[in-house]
Amino acid sequence: MKGQEVLGALTSGLGNGAVKVIDLTETLTPEYPVIELPPEFTQASPFQKKELSRYNEQGPAWYWNDITINEHTGTHFDAPIHWVSGKDLPNNSVDTIDPAHFIAPVCVVDCTKEVAADQDFILTRKHLEDWEAKHGRIPAGSWVFLRSDWRKVVSSDNPKNMREDGAHHPGPDAECVQFMVKDRDVLGFGTECVGTDHGQAFHFDPPLPCHLYMHGAGKYGLQCMTNLDRLPPTGAVIFSAPLKIEEGSGSPLRVLALVPA
Ligand code: MN
Repeated sequence: MKGQEVLGALTSGLGNGAVKVIDLTETLTPEYPVIELPPEFTQASPFQKKELSRYNEQGPAWYWNDITINEHTGTHFDAPIHWVSGKDLPNNSVDTIDPAHFIAPVCVVDCTKEVAADQDFILTRKHLEDWEAKHGRIPAGSWVFLRSDWRKVVSSDNPKNMREDGAHHPGPDAECVQFMVKDRDVLGFGTECVGTDHGQAFHFDPPLPCHLYMHGAGKYGLQCMTNLDRLPPTGAVIFSAPLKIEEGSGSPLRVLALVPA
C-alpha cells in the first residue's frame, strides 16, 4: 500500500466512523491537583487562568486568557531531560524530540481488577509476560499504558490518594521498567495516575525506577490520562504532541487515540 493510499484509508475511516477518536485528556482547571514533592523541594504552581477580556472594554470583540502552568500539570508528557538520568541524551527535550515519536501504537494492560483490590498494586515483568501470552509481544516503539480506571478507584476530593505517608497509586517496579526499556524497546509508559512511578516509589530500590530507567534510555512518560477503558488491548494509535517549549522538560498536551470502531 502506498503512503497516499494509507492516508486515504485513514481519512475515509475517520469520515465513515470505522475509526473513532478518543480523547484521553483531562480538563485543566485551577483545582487540578498538582504533584506534591517532599517539603524540602520546590513545589509546582497550580494551573491559573486570568481573563484579559471577554467582549468588553478590555477587548470589545474578543475573549482570551493569560495562563500559568507547570510543565507537569494535568494530562502531560515527560521528556527524557526531566530526569537526571536523561540530562545528557541527544534530542531529550520537548522541542527537539523526533516528531514521528508523537504518533505511535499502544499496548493497554488492563490492571483494573488488581488495582480495585490493591491501590498500591505493583506492575511486574510477570504481568507483562502474561499480557503478551494473550495479546502478543509488545512491539518496539510502542507505548505501554497501565489501565487502572483510577477515577473510579479514588474519591474525587483526593485524586492523588494522599495519605500521611505520601501518595498511593499503582506503578511498575524496577525489573518491569527494565523489561520494557531493554527487552521491548518501548516508546514510553503511560498511566491515569499523577505520575508514571508508583505512589510509594521513593522507597523503591532504586527510587522512582520508571523515571530513572525510562528517561535514562530516552523514553517518554504520559500521566493523568483518562478514558483508557475505551482503548482495546492492542490496535489503537496514540497522538501525543507536547508544546514546543525551548528545552522543555515536559508539557501539558491533548492526548488522542485512534481506535477501530
Ligand atoms: Mn511529569
